[in-house]
Amino acid sequence: MKTVTFCKQCGNVLNCEFRFCPFCGNRHQNREMSDIIDKSFADLGKVQSRWQLRQLNKLEKRLEKIEAEINFFLQLK
Ligand SMILES: [Zn+2]
Repeated sequence: MKTVTFCKQCGNVLNCEFRFCPFCGNRHQNREMSDIIDKSFADLGKVQSRWQLRQLNKLEKRLEKIEAEINFFLQLK
């Protein structure tokens, strides 16, 4: 059984039984709760990276279009 954890605020090692961090006073969430929060942040990260990928694809398509236009104008010369 794990009896120590880390303070999310200051990173110090804490006893799981502590409700507050003795180093910085940050409220220490129980493990279950912080697991849920960690998972939510992980999901948020996934959503964000999916969004960024979509934006990147859009940008790439736009760049391809611009490149095609530039090539077209270069051919006119
Ligand atoms: Zn702390």
